[in-house]
Amino acid sequence: MDEKLDGNAAGGVLREIFPFEMTVAQITCVGCGATNAIGAVAAYMHGMGAVLRCPSCDYALMRVSHANGQYWLDMRGARVLLISEDAVQA
Ligand SMILES: [Zn+2]
Repeated sequence: MDEKLDGNAAGGVLREIFPFEMTVAQITCVGCGATNAIGAVAAYMHGMGAVLRCPSCDYALMRVSHANGQYWLDMRGARVLLISEDAVQA
C-alpha cells in the first residue's frame, strides 16, 4: 500500500534528476489550476519512485520512477512549473 506523504518525501529522487531544489518549485495543476510548491503537494511513495498529486483535486501532477538504470518522468498533470532563480543558483 502506498503511503501518503508530502512532496518533500519525493525530494530525494527529484534531486537525483534536477540540479536544484525542486521541492520549492511551484507546480500548476492541469486538473484544477491550483498552484502549490512541490514540497506542499501530496506524495505517494512506492518502491521505484513517487506520484505527486494535487492537494486540491487529487489529480496526478507528476510521476517519477527510477528503475533499470533510467529515470522516468511523467509530467502530463503539470500545466506550469515555476522555478525561482534563487533555487537554481543556490
Ligand atoms: Zn488540482
